[in-house]
Amino acid sequence: MLSIKKMRQGRFENWAGNVKKEGCTPHEPQTIEEICTFVSHVYEKGGMIRSVGAAHSFSPVAKPEQHLVSLHHMRGLLDVDAVTQQATFWGGTYLHEVGPILARYNLALENMGDIAEQTIAGAISTGTHGTGLKLTSLSN
Ligand SMILES: Cc1cc2nc3c(=O)[nH]c(=O)nc-3n(C[C@H](O)[C@H](O)[C@H](O)COP(=O)(O)OP(=O)(O)OC[C@H]3O[C@@H](n4cnc5c(N)ncnc54)[C@H](O)[C@@H]3O)c2cc1C
Repeated sequence: MLSIKKMRQGRFENWAGNVKKEGCTPHEPQTIEEICTFVSHVYEKGGMIRSVGAAHSFSPVAKPEQHLVSLHHMRGLLDVDAVTQQATFWGGTYLHEVGPILARYNLALENMGDIAEQTIAGAISTGTHGTGLKLTSLSN
């Protein structure tokens, strides 16, 4: 899992420890408005933004070059419809948080990967999957 403590010191390290970066600027937005203001600001000034989930990717896909954005504070359920069996979560929600929330509505994920530490956004971005010939990736 991304170390929030290290991140606040401007340090990034992935789970495996093979991808590291020092000296990045951390950002932990709490609202969509904050994100919009921040992105506009970086766009005007020039700069690189990288969103980071739980930093479980083995490759440098989540390695920030300059600005590191974590949606650690933007987690949880936005909307759920038990009839259509559809739920909408914030992208920063960790997979291990999804099951207990869905259980309140008698719902569950159909399949999971090996672990549940990833964020929804990170897992969907990278095609994270479980096993099963007839089961698709989480992004589906
Ligand atoms: C112990 C372990 C077990 C694993 N088991 C499996 C498995 O069973 N099956 C499998 O398929 N994979 C597995 N993986 C791989 C893992 O699921 C993926 O690397 C996944 O991307 C990790 O999600 P994350 O939240 O850590 O994303 P990160 O690694 O932090 O980011 C992945 C990508 O998503 C982008 N991203 C993250 N958050 C956002 C956001 N809010 N908005 C836009 N882009 C964003 C990042 O910029 C990056 O490009 C495993 C990894 C580990 C370390």
